[in-house]
Amino acid sequence: MKETFEKQNIGICKFCGQKKKLIKAHIIPKNFYLSRKKDRYLCINSKTGEYTFQQNGGYDSNILCSNCDNHILGDFDKEGYRILLGNFNKYKYIQLHPQYKIYQLDSNDFDYTKLRKFFISILWRASISQLEEWSNINLGGYEKKAYEILKGRKEHSELFKILIYKNCYIEDINQEVLIAKGKTSKYKKYVIQMAGYRIEIMVDSARITNKYRLQYETYFLNSTYAHIIETTEVSRRVNHEYNLRMRELYEKGFVPPKPSGIK
Ligand SMILES: [Zn+2]
Repeated sequence: MKETFEKQNIGICKFCGQKKKLIKAHIIPKNFYLSRKKDRYLCINSKTGEYTFQQNGGYDSNILCSNCDNHILGDFDKEGYRILLGNFNKYKYIQLHPQYKIYQLDSNDFDYTKLRKFFISILWRASISQLEEWSNINLGGYEKKAYEILKGRKEHSELFKILIYKNCYIEDINQEVLIAKGKTSKYKKYVIQMAGYRIEIMVDSARITNKYRLQYETYFLNSTYAHIIETTEVSRRVNHEYNLRMRELYEKGFVPPKPSGIK
């Protein structure tokens, strides 16, 4: 009953450009928050690196209308859930080492356009958000290009090269959700960490060094294959960064929440 009298949040939707009622749009879809519990989320501020608890998760109420968030971008999110949170047993993998697996999904297993847009949409949402917690994520001139890709107007195939890593440890770390700028001065790179994944996105592949290209090009998400790389090397690095942050937090007397099911 109360809602009837609440002020409606009317504004310009950043995706369709129309004046509409704007809704609470999650920057990272909430299914990727493993620590979701009583609608409180553990998030990392992309600017300060600090942990924060957020009521109802990291959303922005000033960017999207319900149709764009739920049906258009929501459709890309669904492909993200299906591939990343689905049943991994059905995927074929190459085992190069006892602790090194590369899952290889072929074009029958995934929808390239939707999966690519899913990752780009997370960066785009964080980039357009005016909230302080995402203020470090700013695509600059690439924001418009990301939008053209999401709208299906242009492919910009040289942009947004994506590597998908999966953590091979089952630990608290998988509850961590963050978007961070990659530490490289040569090109723009972002890291999205969610639900035990580490997604690395090279914004402009023209700026990638040849050495890097030779090493990783095969594994960039492409229309023929999606590779999901599970290596102890990357997992260790993720774990190390996580432990450093956690140690800092514990020193400040912080007690992190546990994911559901873990006592
Ligand atoms: Zn809209």
